Amino acid sequence: MTEPLVKPKKKNPVLRTRLATLPPVPRSRSALGLTRAAAEGVFEMQVCADCGTVQYPPREVCGSCLSEHVAWKPVDNRGELIATTTLRHSNDLYFRERLPWRVGTVKMAAGPSVVAHVHEDCAEGGTVRLTLKLDRSGQAVLHALPEKDTPNMNDAPQLRESTCDPKFRRVLVTDGKSATGMAVARAMLEAGANAVFLGDASTWKTVPAFDKLVASDPRLQVVELDVTDTDSVDRLAASIGGKVEILVNTADYLRDGGILNRKDVNLARDAMEVNVLGLMRLAQAFGPGMCFRAADGSNNAVAWVNILSIHAHAALPARGAWSASKAAALSLSQTLRAELRGAGVRVMNVFPGPVDEEWEQLTPPPKIAPSGLAKAIVKGLQDGVEDVYVGDIAEELRTRLRENHKAVERELGQ
Ligand SMILES: [Zn+2]
Repeated sequence: MTEPLVKPKKKNPVLRTRLATLPPVPRSRSALGLTRAAAEGVFEMQVCADCGTVQYPPREVCGSCLSEHVAWKPVDNRGELIATTTLRHSNDLYFRERLPWRVGTVKMAAGPSVVAHVHEDCAEGGTVRLTLKLDRSGQAVLHALPEKDTPNMNDAPQLRESTCDPKFRRVLVTDGKSATGMAVARAMLEAGANAVFLGDASTWKTVPAFDKLVASDPRLQVVELDVTDTDSVDRLAASIGGKVEILVNTADYLRDGGILNRKDVNLARDAMEVNVLGLMRLAQAFGPGMCFRAADGSNNAVAWVNILSIHAHAALPARGAWSASKAAALSLSQTLRAELRGAGVRVMNVFPGPVDEEWEQLTPPPKIAPSGLAKAIVKGLQDGVEDVYVGDIAEELRTRLRENHKAVERELGQ
């Protein structure tokens, strides 16, 4: 059984900080299909359309009949753990610092035999669940997990290397006073976070629910943070930048309005200030510190979370400027992901449909409750995925965008 993770002790400032190293990165283009599945949290392999063979490792053609029609499909992830070994030596810098490391061979029910990282609770000869995870280099790896959940299984150091579990980590929620911000803070505390810093851009404003929340748990700490003000962001980074292990950017400027019926660009500018330039200011102030602490013990810096919108992918003309700001934020987050990947810090983008928030009061249901959005964020971190779609509307639009993006464009514009 996995030993429960021990709360990390206060760091000795004299000791050196372990610098980030990465597991091997190179993958063939075919193998990046696994990376896509891992990033979305699904288990898929290549299945031949002609002979039905499930193929691993991924290749350009079917290894059995040479057909070129190999498509990525969900397959049965169970298998038998036929042999394991525990590595106690490695020439690879990343693995050398994390030994011992258990690996093994799994004979999948779907056909192929695969080599996987093996969870310490898996018994040789027993049934295991295979799962695709992103490793610290952002590439897909196979983990064999016990068939059924075991106590503290997510605390296993080997699994924790592939996930971004909030347990014992410190979290900055950039707008802690919004309904979403408060819900995220609550969910992080429930998931075992050591501290949650709640950004507050309007300290003059009394919000009873916020005051009640802050008084409810000593792990919560209010910090002044206005993402439209570079000095404010820099000041906070100088003060707590070295403690932020997960940053959740909940700051959002949402207002109705298209383009033609306005005679000014003020709304668009305000939305860009918060949703785009705010993200950039936060990245410049907090990103480098998080990279430096990306391998710093069991409470290393692991994740950057952006709450975007499904309308980052397809504009909602009734909120034209806001949609454009979310699309721009998505583009920035891809750059940020590329820049943080070198240290192993993951960028997770969250794409909700309408959320039951202050500025969505006139949006007809279904709307996602902030608590539901927060739960999805915590689960995404625990699973270690890159993209999270929350709610029926987001899921439906995502599927339909793949099928016919022109149809979606026409319908959203009506
Ligand atoms: Zn085939």
